[in-house]
Amino acid sequence: MKFYSTNKSAPEVSLADALLQGQAPDRGLYLPVQIPKMSADFLKNASQMPYPELAAAVLSQYGDTFSHAELQEICADAYDFDVPIENVSGRRHILRLDRGPSASFKDFAARFMGRAIGRLVNRQNRELLILTATSGDTGSAVAHAFLGVKGIRVLVLFPRDEVSDRQRKQMTTLGDNVSMISVDGKFDDCQALVKRAFADADLARLNLSSANSINIGRLLPQSVYYIYAASRIADIGNGEKVIICVPSGNFGNLMGAVLAFKGGLPVEKFVVATNANDEVPLFVESGVYRKIEPSRVCISNAMNVGHPSNLARLVDLYGGHLDETGAMLKKPDMDALRRDFYAVSISDEKTRATIRSVYEKYATLIEPHGAVGWAGLETYFNDVPQHANMAAVCLETAHPAKFPDEVRRITGVEPPLPACLSDLDSKPESFDSMKVDYEAFKTYLKGKYQ
Ligand SMILES: *Cc1c(COP(=O)(O)O)cnc(C)c1O
Repeated sequence: MKFYSTNKSAPEVSLADALLQGQAPDRGLYLPVQIPKMSADFLKNASQMPYPELAAAVLSQYGDTFSHAELQEICADAYDFDVPIENVSGRRHILRLDRGPSASFKDFAARFMGRAIGRLVNRQNRELLILTATSGDTGSAVAHAFLGVKGIRVLVLFPRDEVSDRQRKQMTTLGDNVSMISVDGKFDDCQALVKRAFADADLARLNLSSANSINIGRLLPQSVYYIYAASRIADIGNGEKVIICVPSGNFGNLMGAVLAFKGGLPVEKFVVATNANDEVPLFVESGVYRKIEPSRVCISNAMNVGHPSNLARLVDLYGGHLDETGAMLKKPDMDALRRDFYAVSISDEKTRATIRSVYEKYATLIEPHGAVGWAGLETYFNDVPQHANMAAVCLETAHPAKFPDEVRRITGVEPPLPACLSDLDSKPESFDSMKVDYEAFKTYLKGKYQ
C-alpha cells in the first residue's frame, strides 16, 4: 500500500515512510492511494470482535509494513482499556473514548503510533525527535504514548493560556524522554512554529517527525472505533446506516471516520460539530473557505482551531485541492460534501446548556467537547426529523473530570476522577517557556538536541 501527498508534488511512499515523515516534503498530507474496502462479512463479524482484535484487522488492510501478528501485539498492548458505548435515549448513543491514560480520544491514535514508530525506529537503528503542537490533549496523549520508547525523544509545544491546569500537568509531570515548552501565544502559533521547523533544512539533522494529526498514523487507528461502535448499534453487515456525530477541531478524528466510510461503513450522515470556530460549517454552507485568525477561545479548548490541517485531506477526497496556507486551489464537489456532511457550529452558551440538559434529562455527565457534539446531533434531528429513529452515535472525546470547574458549576456534580488524573497534583512539573519567535525556537532546538 502506497501513500500520496495531497499537494501531489511529492513521491508516493510506504506506510513506514509516511509514519516516520509525518508531513510530505511538498507540505501536503499523506493519504492511502486506495482506501481498502471492507466486505459485508467483515462488517458482520466486526460486532463480535473485541476492540484490539478489530483494530488489528482494520489496520492490517493498509499493507505489510507490520505483519498481522505484529499488529495484534501492538493493538493488544495499546488498547488495554474499556471503550464504552452508552445508550442515552432511543437509539442515540455516546461513545466514550476517554478511558486511556490521558483520558482523551487521542490515546487511541497516539498509543498505536508510539508503538508502531518505536518498532520502525528500532528496526532501522535510528533516532527520532517527535515535535508536536497541542491545543490541549494531543500533547499528553503523544507524551504518554512515547514515554520511555527507546530511540525517540518528544518535545511538545502548548499555548500557555489555552490549556487547563490539569491538561498541562498531564504533560509536564512525565519527565524521561519527554519535554514541554509553554508558548506565550495561541495553538495556531505553536503549530506554525512546529511546521516551520519541519520545513527548515538547517534542522534536518535532528530527524524531526510529527505526531500531530497531520501524521497518517493518527488517522488510521481513528477509523477503528467508528466501525466498532456502528457494528454494535446497527446491523451494518446488512447495510443498515448510522448517523455519526464528531465534535471537531483539527478534523483528524473526522478523517478517521471518513476513511471507514470510504472503506464501506454504511453512514447516512456525518454530523460535524464545531465550537465558535465555524470556518468549516461556513465553508460547507457557502463553498467559500476562510480560515479564522486568530482562532476563537471557547470552553471546548481542544477544538479552538481556526485553520484545520486535516481539511486538506477531506477536500482532496472530494476532488478538490486545499494547500497548506488555506488557499482553495480547486473546489471539491460541494454537492457530494453536503450529501455526506451536516456541519454545525455550537456556541459556548449552547454547550453549557447541553451539559446541563443531558445531565438533567438522562443523568449522563458529558464535558464541553462531547456537549458540542451532542448539541450538534440534536440540531440535526430537529432539522431532519425523519431520521429521528435511526441509530446514532456521538463521540465523547474527553473525560468530564478534565473540565471539573465547568462541569461542577453547571451540574452541581463533581465528576469522579479516573486514576490517571488523580495523582497529578502531587508530582513536580518541568517545562520551558518561550515567546512566539521562530529564531529563538530554532536556537533552542539546536542547543538541546543537536
Ligand atoms: C483534539 C480534540 C478534539 C478535536 O479533535 P480533532 O481531531 O482535532 O478534530 C476534540 N475533543 C478533544 C477532547 C480533543 O482533545
